[in-house]
Amino acid sequence: MNIGAPRQPGPEPRVGVTPEIAQRYVEDGHTVQVESGAGEAAGLPDEAFREAGCEMVGSAWEADVVVTVGPPGDAEVSRLTPGARLLGLLRPLEEPEAMRRLAESGVTAIAFETLPRTTRAQSMDALSSQATLAGYQMVLEAASRLPRIFPMMVTAAGTIRPATVVVLGCGVAGLQAIATARRLGAVVRGYDVRASAAEQVLSLGASFIEIDVTPQDSSASGGYARPLSDGDGTRLLDGLAPHLAAADVVITAAAIPGRPAPTLISAEAVSGMRPGSVIVDGTAERGGNCVLTVADQVVRAGGVTVVGPTGLEARAAADASSTFARNAYELFSYLYDAEIAGADDEIRTGVTITRGGEVVHPEVLARIDAAQMDAMT
Ligand code: NAD
Repeated sequence: MNIGAPRQPGPEPRVGVTPEIAQRYVEDGHTVQVESGAGEAAGLPDEAFREAGCEMVGSAWEADVVVTVGPPGDAEVSRLTPGARLLGLLRPLEEPEAMRRLAESGVTAIAFETLPRTTRAQSMDALSSQATLAGYQMVLEAASRLPRIFPMMVTAAGTIRPATVVVLGCGVAGLQAIATARRLGAVVRGYDVRASAAEQVLSLGASFIEIDVTPQDSSASGGYARPLSDGDGTRLLDGLAPHLAAADVVITAAAIPGRPAPTLISAEAVSGMRPGSVIVDGTAERGGNCVLTVADQVVRAGGVTVVGPTGLEARAAADASSTFARNAYELFSYLYDAEIAGADDEIRTGVTITRGGEVVHPEVLARIDAAQMDAMT
């Protein structure tokens, strides 16, 4: 097959194929076309792709299999070849209508967002590889804004106490935030509604915040938490407030796929926090875990700084590209390698959003139907 790695639309610095991975596609008997300049922002010059056996082209959106990091814009969709496969982070649950347009263009759309979180699928899990990098960046963001340092320091001028960091939502991003804050020497506390997260938090040397709400067993919902009842939601806000008041930094990464981020920090809780403390809300794009969060803006509330940076994973574009490219190679090989192909298993059905001119993913279809019902009423 002919694999295409296009230049990404907008400010996206990542690229879906790296020279290392291109070499693997070539060894497997495929050809790789890379759009000139596609890897530049990730520190991957055209020359490196040429040396890996790629053909440099003016546009790679016309290939048989297009590996894109983010969703294509309208201009890019019009360049896709009917019958082609498009692999990437396509936002199918957030933008179901765009999936319908992809179906109409005759493309088989394969989205990482709907990959089941199973052991077999781990090597293909681009959401996780990118969230790991984002969790790391959330802590760097907080450290750069905090008027204090993270580690304890014993100096001739006295002892500086370590910063206290609270991490809410201990999924992939949150756990990496905990690990990073610990490496920087902070005292770290974590909270998640999944009871199974406690063990992981403790294994990273942080303590787990216990709050009296019904734990959300993840196994019933494909490895993800479920929304809380109203009563539990209120108990959670109240239970977290004293922990927030004792924190220097709060990092939030609590999410439920395809839904707005749950509210964990009220304006009142922010007003109870220490002057100089910082909230880095990793869920700004989904509305935020803190009610004061505004995406990509710095909000000052009393003495507290609230930031909601987006695109954090892309800040380390080289590592983000290399991990994404590996995930894409694994998924591609799983779906299209002759020896494995054929089985309509849960990975294949999970990631396939459109096929044969139609949207085939039940959750995306349900969202398209719901949007149409909304438009009619
Ligand atoms: P994940 O699904 O692995 O983790 C989310 C965690 O939140 C889960 O452990 C879940 O149990 C927990 N959670 C759900 N509801 C909760 C509640 N009410 N209270 C406490 N915990 C709750 O997701 P992830 O991959 O770790 O990503 C987390 C968030 O980070 C997502 O919103 C994702 O979009 C975001 N993210 C942001 C950026 C950025 O640039 N800002 C980049 C990557 C990921």
